[in-house]
Amino acid sequence: MCELIKGKCLCGSVEYEIENKFDQFYICHCEQCRKITGSAYASNLFGDPRQFNIISGSEDIKRFDYNERGFTKAFCTECGSGVPYLNSSGKSIVVPAGTLDAEPVFNDKKIIFYKEKPKWGSENETDSYFDEFPV
Ligand SMILES: [Zn+2]
Ligand SMILES: [Zn+2]
Repeated sequence: MCELIKGKCLCGSVEYEIENKFDQFYICHCEQCRKITGSAYASNLFGDPRQFNIISGSEDIKRFDYNERGFTKAFCTECGSGVPYLNSSGKSIVVPAGTLDAEPVFNDKKIIFYKEKPKWGSENETDSYFDEFPV
């Protein structure tokens, strides 16, 4: 019996569930991930396609394949959130970790394409931290 974890996009149209047992967790700083997220890096978990199920919103998912480095992105056409997709080898479901509604369990985590990381993407001593919007 496997334990399932659920996730959804921001607007809630796309909902999914998958076994909460991920082989790999990639924090990717590559240029493609930076562009597509608009942020410093992407956080993707690799799960078992046999234990993956879209609960709702499959008609709202658009897939974008970009040939360089076999890069793919799937997203909700309502809100733009990244959503899980089957990778090009068909062996893994790539799950954007930020869409999960609970804590994932994973075997291994790797920070990749680190040399492409923008300088502003690092934490440094002069950064200011707030729990919410700064006042
Ligand atoms: Zn959405
Ligand atoms: Zn990347």
